Amino acid sequence: MLKTEGSASAYRAEPPDRYVYDFADGQATMSDLLGGKGANLAEMTRLGLPVPPGFTVTTEACRHYLKTGRLPGGLDAQIAKHLAGLEQAAGRRLGDADDPLLLSVRSGAKFSMPGMMETVLNIGVCDATVAGLAKRYGDERFAWDCYRRLVQMYGRTVLGVSAEEFERALIQAKVRKGLVPDAPDTALDADALRALTRRFQRIVREVSGQEVPQSPREQLSGAVRAVFESWDGQRARVYRRREGIPDDLGTAVTVMTMVFGNLGGDSGTGVGFTRDPATGAPGVYGDYLSDAEGEDVVSGVRNTLTLEQFGALDPDAYRELRRHMATLEEHYRDLCDIEFTVERGKLWMLQTRVGKRTAAAAFRIAADLLADGTIDEDEALCRVTGEQLAQLMFPCFAPSGGAIAPIAKGIAASPGAAVGHAVFSSADAVARAAAGDRVILVRRETNPDDLPGMIAASGVLTGRGGKTSHAAVVARGMGRTCVCGVESLEIDEQLGTATVTRGRSAGIVINRGDLISIDGTDGSVYDTEIPVVSSPVVEYFEGHGTHTGDPVVAAVATLLGIADSRAQLGVRANADTPADAARARRFGAHGIGLARTEHMFLGERRPIVERLILAESQQDRTNALNRLLELQRADFTGLLAAMDGLPVTVRLLDPPLHEFLPDLTELSVEIAVADATHQPVTAERRELLAAVRRWHEQNPMLGLRGVRLGLVVPGLYAMQVRALAEAIVARRGDGGAPLAHIMIPLVAEAHELELARAEAKRVLREVDPGLTVSVGVMIELPRAALTARRIAEHAEFFSFGTNDLTQTTWGMSRDDAEGAFFPAYLEHGVFTASPFGTIDPEGVGALVRAAVKRGRWTRPDLEIGVCGEHGGDPASIHFFHQAGVDYVSCSPFRVPVARLEAGRAAVLARREAAGSDAVGSDTR
Ligand code: ADP
Ligand code: MG
Ligand code: MG
Repeated sequence: MLKTEGSASAYRAEPPDRYVYDFADGQATMSDLLGGKGANLAEMTRLGLPVPPGFTVTTEACRHYLKTGRLPGGLDAQIAKHLAGLEQAAGRRLGDADDPLLLSVRSGAKFSMPGMMETVLNIGVCDATVAGLAKRYGDERFAWDCYRRLVQMYGRTVLGVSAEEFERALIQAKVRKGLVPDAPDTALDADALRALTRRFQRIVREVSGQEVPQSPREQLSGAVRAVFESWDGQRARVYRRREGIPDDLGTAVTVMTMVFGNLGGDSGTGVGFTRDPATGAPGVYGDYLSDAEGEDVVSGVRNTLTLEQFGALDPDAYRELRRHMATLEEHYRDLCDIEFTVERGKLWMLQTRVGKRTAAAAFRIAADLLADGTIDEDEALCRVTGEQLAQLMFPCFAPSGGAIAPIAKGIAASPGAAVGHAVFSSADAVARAAAGDRVILVRRETNPDDLPGMIAASGVLTGRGGKTSHAAVVARGMGRTCVCGVESLEIDEQLGTATVTRGRSAGIVINRGDLISIDGTDGSVYDTEIPVVSSPVVEYFEGHGTHTGDPVVAAVATLLGIADSRAQLGVRANADTPADAARARRFGAHGIGLARTEHMFLGERRPIVERLILAESQQDRTNALNRLLELQRADFTGLLAAMDGLPVTVRLLDPPLHEFLPDLTELSVEIAVADATHQPVTAERRELLAAVRRWHEQNPMLGLRGVRLGLVVPGLYAMQVRALAEAIVARRGDGGAPLAHIMIPLVAEAHELELARAEAKRVLREVDPGLTVSVGVMIELPRAALTARRIAEHAEFFSFGTNDLTQTTWGMSRDDAEGAFFPAYLEHGVFTASPFGTIDPEGVGALVRAAVKRGRWTRPDLEIGVCGEHGGDPASIHFFHQAGVDYVSCSPFRVPVARLEAGRAAVLARREAAGSDAVGSDTR
């Protein structure tokens, strides 16, 4: 028992209303409270890196402010106290006329939101201190540069004056000096900068009716409030929605001593990465700009130096920088990005974080860090995701080495590389695609009426909307490449033009019919055709052997190997043809979890199915069935051969019969027209119409399908089972090792299964009494999940059909709902992800858990799989792992993704159970 228990001090260890932490009091794990920036500045301070002193106001204070509109009581006093500490450490005071302390006020949320919120630099410069500042550094130009920057940033951030107002005045100041408009800011001398500061102050006054305060204390509190408020700014909100960051986290505010990169040629500012964030290649990358401050380096106002060039300019500072970068990488055990400033030769570290990276870089870095012993296998596996692997498997544009630049960039909404002629309406897309053209549908935004065009197009491009817009949701749902929200494109659907309004390519017009290319993996839009190549990772899986030596491919192979060794979930494929089965096997599937038989009834076999349905005598029916039997036997033999030695789960016929019959309306019209024009109509045609009428259903999805069909159409399921049994016997005769299972679809009640299984077993015995083929059930109706205990009495295995289970649990048809109201539902936050894409853990997931438990109550060794599309979805795979499922089955292309996630699920579950969470393991 704790000694202090029960005493007041037990509750006083941390004052309940502590809102401010010195850098020395924080650490990297405190990003909830201090934001990523504040927490990592504290961590760098603890590591002994040169960080200017400072403190961080917590996200809690921000949440309080956003909720109540007031700063929490006591915050001012706490800030004053920590400020006094800063002043003492720096040996100068805020507002001191002779030697003023200057501060930066920076935003920083738990998850990095680069450039989304506000930062104000040079707090503390004012009329009373500018001369002291100039004297202290012996540089009048510098002091006025700080002052004009403060007015500019404070005016924009705190008082809402638009950036263009200042830009215009800055250009005028240059022109007045006889300089060209895009001359560097450094060309302005002290006098010009003084005049510019005054001009900026007038602009602020005119536009906002307010002044940048002359009191440094007021400047400070104004900036703190502005940072808090920037959390709710439009830009930040849009970004959070796109990235799935919760709206209620709030931002921290970091206040730190200014260091100055704008003190001449021996000063400057830069950014860097400890490895290449694009390719993952080892070696530092970065940019440096001398005599500059803050964002100058990324704003493109002047040409930057590479870090190597910086090394030539200032070898000492560069050496020290490299040392700190190495320290950071070693400490975080990951790629870090940094921001730094050099003040008269002295290096200062201003920011670090575990850096964002491309999918390729994620794999390469994880494998490299594993190889050099920095991280272990489990950690390496946690550094990559199935989504990243999926990205590496899409066809991509052939690298142009930067020769071809995108004309615009939007949101990468659905991956892939698409090339086609620009069309501006759904109808146009359909028409041109029907004529054999590849098209890209370009719309301001899409709505359900655009669906046919989206289906016809190879890619979709929109000017508005984010990752949850109609275009994005629907395109992802059907695996169509999509770039959305390209705000620099002005799209005129009437005229059939898309005009670039901003950036280097401003003025370029895409006309109807022009060939364009869009990259759904990075959001790029090109006004030309870019050659598309198959991904090296896919080439590797296919065994083409063309990519030995590609470090990303090698990394994928290593990490998949680790995943396979950790996974408890098996991975099978949904495959209906020998070609798909063979590919799935090459991609690492351990069998087929779902072989659908319906495509075996389409195409040229349709007339046979019609004959079966129309059969009046037993003889007619038998003839039709025998014909189908032969064809099915061949189908199954091919599948069993492709998966020899591995399980093949064959689902008996599932869809409603009308899918194999002509359309009711078309056939009615055909016969009515023939009758009206006195053309002859055969008796068979009329019978067909009668049959189509008879089989017609208002709601086929809930109608005569699955096991119902098997029980109602005599001989149908028996024929399928016989075909499979004979295929097995034939394969065995050829020396193969066929391993087939039979799966009965759409069972709701145990007795349905009992009947269907008895028939299957009878046929199997008839073909060969020695055959051991297990007969199992698809669990895809809520009633089946709930009565799983009884159903398991007749089932030798379960397989969750999560597509139908989701449809029937939610009572919504996927085909109809996704385009119609899902975008609105996502917008309203009714769901955060489509339940057809990611399993809904509370509803559908609860049924899955119940069925697993109840099924195994009857049969403790019951094998349970998942064969819906959720089987290839990362989040769902983690759910199935935890639910105790034995394997997932997904499309051949998703098999590697599922293997990776099955391994990750095992590792993450183990880690969670052990409660470990290492620094820097957050790779989001
Ligand atoms: P963002 O989150 O948008 O990157 P930051 O808070 O990092 O914004 O601030 C932008 C830039 O301002 C930094 O990259 C750095 O160059 C500069 N900066 C911030 N604090 C200081 C400081 N104390 N001294 C000098 N420059 C600073
Ligand atoms: Mg920054
Ligand atoms: Mg189904």
